[in-house]
Amino acid sequence: MTRVYDDDLVPAFATRAIHAGQRPEPLAGAIMTPVYLTSTYVQDALGHNKGYEYARGKNPTREALERNVAALEGGRHGFAFSSGMGSVDSIMKLFRAGDHIVCGENLYGGVFRLFDKLLQHFGLSFSWVDTRDPQVIADAMQPNTRLVFVETPSNPLMRLCDLRAAADIAHRHDALLLVDNTFASPFFQRPLELGADIIYHSTTKYLNGHSDMIGGMVVVNDDSLAERLQFILNAAGAVPGPFDSWLALRGTKTLHLRMPRHDANGRQIAGWLAERLGEERVIYPGLPSHPQHALAKSQMSGFGGMISVELGTKEKANEVLTRCRLFSLAESLGGVESLISHPASMTHASVDPERRARLGITEGLIRLSCGVEDVGDLLADLEHAFHVV
Ligand SMILES: *Cc1c(COP(=O)(O)O)cnc(C)c1O
Repeated sequence: MTRVYDDDLVPAFATRAIHAGQRPEPLAGAIMTPVYLTSTYVQDALGHNKGYEYARGKNPTREALERNVAALEGGRHGFAFSSGMGSVDSIMKLFRAGDHIVCGENLYGGVFRLFDKLLQHFGLSFSWVDTRDPQVIADAMQPNTRLVFVETPSNPLMRLCDLRAAADIAHRHDALLLVDNTFASPFFQRPLELGADIIYHSTTKYLNGHSDMIGGMVVVNDDSLAERLQFILNAAGAVPGPFDSWLALRGTKTLHLRMPRHDANGRQIAGWLAERLGEERVIYPGLPSHPQHALAKSQMSGFGGMISVELGTKEKANEVLTRCRLFSLAESLGGVESLISHPASMTHASVDPERRARLGITEGLIRLSCGVEDVGDLLADLEHAFHVV
């Protein structure tokens, strides 16, 4: 069980980012949490240990990360996993055959693949609905619905879900609300404070922020939910290694420095794109033209660096993607360096073409992850790349 230390719950986010979950190392007082490269721990006598028995269950480096991210999310318990997908797979083990789950139709492509290709064969059933409209969520609830699962803003269409309304609907039906908080990060959005029961992250993205590891995090407040998650974590074993945990922990310490810059660059680039191409072609929750801009302002404190742009055809998309020099053509997002991608053939290739088209993930859609470089240089790169459209 990895409960946050009581004195980690200081009010200021920046202080939590640097200190929450961190204690000087007991042997020499090292200020940095060491990478505890060990599989097991020596015990004093039968039944007497220092709180650590075997590293699948608990590792001090991982624990420092878990406490840190839990405090950032305003939650009491954090659990680190080997990837964002490992987090989702483990969360789903809270449920059993016969249970029904209401999902946002625009959940991350890998989540759709996990549910549609694997977990439905274990007796779980899923309804895929447009979670922009709370009434649509309410209408999808069944007597056996145990979970409402949303992602906001969603990837890559930046669709929002009203988290207060979704929590209300879930709870009226004795179901839990699970939120993918990867895009906003706890710096801009804290779903637990808006009523969610479980949040998860792909730590790979903004939390780590340096594109050098794969990881996932789950945070909850409820003690019995935490106990069940700790059991699943140890029983199923989708845990990260200590070095990946340490890299993520190094990342979270500067989250509050990086996110405002991602946000500033994102706003400026979205504004430039809207002027250049017309605001109807640019999808960014921070633009007043975004249909859910008001909701974005009410549940997020910033909009981040993710922008999608509709270019009409795959040929135009390809031309822009290959003309970029600073924006690198790659999957993933949330790192300090700017990336650009083509969701239909990259992150969402596992979603069949007909479903992609229905969702609006067209062949002409490109996605930008604005990094923290100089915005003038980023704009010059885009000026060159968009010259052809
Ligand atoms: C990347 C991502 C995931 C999956 O996480 P991995 O760490 O790649 O397993 C889930 N949700 C969102 C929004 C993501 O961007």
